[in-house]
Amino acid sequence: MRDDLDRTIAVLQGERPGPAAGNGYPQDSADAGSILSEADRTEAILLSARGQRDEVLAALARLDQNTYGQCVDCGQEIPEGRLDARPDAARCVGCQGKWAKRNR
Ligand SMILES: [Zn+2]
Repeated sequence: MRDDLDRTIAVLQGERPGPAAGNGYPQDSADAGSILSEADRTEAILLSARGQRDEVLAALARLDQNTYGQCVDCGQEIPEGRLDARPDAARCVGCQGKWAKRNR
């Protein structure tokens, strides 16, 4: 899972138009706009892939500390069904809900 995300990030970073790619840009403003939104979309995917990667790395760290499968907030065991759906889940459903509200 971590390797997949690393690959995704590497691919997206490779696709991002750098400053050096400027010579190939069409002068038409509509085209320039579509290129910009494409770059924005890539940026958004890259951000979410990075965030996901952080969560996976945190889950791996919990595995190392033998706290994997425990809610990081209340310490209760996270139900297996939830871990199947979200192997990188750090919180039980109740704490995740509270956490999501706090971080909105
Ligand atoms: Zn909890």
